[in-house]
Amino acid sequence: MRRIKSLVIATAMAITLTLVSCDKDQVNTPVEESSLVVEKDVLNKITTLHFNPNGIEKVMVNDIDGTKKTMYRIEDDIMLSKSQIMDMGLHGGIQNKQYRTNNLVTSTNVIRVVGYTGNNQYGLSSTARTGLQYAVNNYNNENLSIRFIVSFGTNWGPNDILVYVDNSINPDPNRSAGIAGFPSNGYPFTRVRINNGANLTQTNQQLEHLLAHEIGHCIGFRHTDWDTRKTCGENSNEGVSNVGLVYIPGTAGPGGDPNSIMNACYPANTDGEWSNLDRVALNYLY
Ligand SMILES: [Zn+2]
Repeated sequence: MRRIKSLVIATAMAITLTLVSCDKDQVNTPVEESSLVVEKDVLNKITTLHFNPNGIEKVMVNDIDGTKKTMYRIEDDIMLSKSQIMDMGLHGGIQNKQYRTNNLVTSTNVIRVVGYTGNNQYGLSSTARTGLQYAVNNYNNENLSIRFIVSFGTNWGPNDILVYVDNSINPDPNRSAGIAGFPSNGYPFTRVRINNGANLTQTNQQLEHLLAHEIGHCIGFRHTDWDTRKTCGENSNEGVSNVGLVYIPGTAGPGGDPNSIMNACYPANTDGEWSNLDRVALNYLY
């Protein structure tokens, strides 16, 4: 998800200053993103799958154990590994309306979400922890067939969704505030990363929105406005991509839903709550 678009100037300046000072304070291994070239076989595969190749970047991300992983970023806030890209097909072909990926969470009814609280560069601020708690409550308030259990600490398991700060996702503060991925093997994507600017400067309602959105990707939601990205002030199309584009009955369809949590960008004054059609979508899928 991109950073919110319509901040008042004073706030924007304050955030910019904060980000600059954070960058200076942070001891990060420098990553030369520009040196990472997307390989030809990946580009060919993406083209075969009718994904928009203009939106892909190869990036190095920090895993929380200190290792680095090469991933491919699409649509600003979604990450896929090379094997995910190379192994997946269209499953049902191209459709002109959508909202979920081919893969959903089917292997578990309980999704454990761990907000990382380590006293280091990965730890969530207290505001972000509040936002995460609110986001998980919003899922559970829908009484879905999947149940989320949130905890805060430094221990997590193999299928847990670990939520933490990773400033390497965002060398440009105007790009992604958060990033996640899509389910595989019936389990949710296991990492939600937010940048330090969001962690330190967004309100708990903005973080509630951001984290509900990224968790939405983890369980299979695509962007509601995938076909226009109009909430970002754009007119571009994210394409079908390798993950699929499946319409969820009862939702708005191509007309869009300006209040959806799953739109590509969000307003500064978000209340972080589901739109009515988000509820329809959640209850249809789960
Ligand atoms: Zn997104």
